[in-house]
Amino acid sequence: MLILKTIKDINNQVVELKEMGKKVGFVPTMGALHEGHISLIRLSNRENDLTVCSIFVNPTQFNDPKDFEKYPITLESDMQKLIAAKCDILFLPTVAEMYPKGLKNSEPIDFGYIAGTLEGEFRPGHFDGMAQIVEKLLRAVAPHRLYMGQKDYQQAMICTRLIKKRNLKIKIVVCPIKREKDGLAMSSRNVRLDARSRKVAVEISKVLKSMKGRAARGEGQLIADLEQAAFEKLSSFSEFKVEYVAIRDAKTLKPIKKISATTHAVALIAARIGGVRLIDNMLL
Ligand code: AMP
Repeated sequence: MLILKTIKDINNQVVELKEMGKKVGFVPTMGALHEGHISLIRLSNRENDLTVCSIFVNPTQFNDPKDFEKYPITLESDMQKLIAAKCDILFLPTVAEMYPKGLKNSEPIDFGYIAGTLEGEFRPGHFDGMAQIVEKLLRAVAPHRLYMGQKDYQQAMICTRLIKKRNLKIKIVVCPIKREKDGLAMSSRNVRLDARSRKVAVEISKVLKSMKGRAARGEGQLIADLEQAAFEKLSSFSEFKVEYVAIRDAKTLKPIKKISATTHAVALIAARIGGVRLIDNMLL
């Protein structure tokens, strides 16, 4: 696996590959890699001639400085996993490389409603920082295809709009959520859960599954009732501090009132447990 650390080097390398007619897939990550990340690498490998993965813990997308400080860094094992998954190139830039003019946000892009609700409401500034680094990475790597996880539902929606707004010739591929055997969505933050929190954390995916079941059975069912029942179930565990339980239109993230045969809805949850913030979602 080739490891490149500067924008100039990665850009030259990909330009050369494209001139040779190769298709390039790109998987941006913040490291602490798990099977969820690796599933993106595998899909990119299947659909492209080469895969580039980036590892960069982006300081501007952490609205909570403690979350940034505690973000797990496991570079050695990440590299082993990438080699085993046959990743071709690792882009591993420094903060100075990505932010030569300092960390102050450049003019943020207005993504409208989808960036202000749910994660946007609970993590102010997060999407500005995320969109900023994704644009820098996409311009540096200039891949044919970008692979992102449905796990970060709003993030993938915003990146789709970013590509459109900036007129980038990149196809975004949104990949399914990889889960642990008991259903917990894989996340780099899961390693920070203590034994008790890990046991209770699975309730998030259980509640999502139960909302999906109820929605499938009950046409005309009020969304507010489903949300309320799920919120109460999670809140019955004293370990949880639930931030939101929401069922929204899967394409616009706007609230909807009732389940109908034509509804494309997604249920999204964010909750804190044992000092760790977890998110998950499920299409209904
Ligand atoms: P992160 O390192 O958390 O920024 O994630 C990098 C990419 O991996 C993002 O596109 C995530 O949505 C995706 N990802 C994270 N967890 C999972 C998962 N459990 N299943 C599938 N994709 C994931």
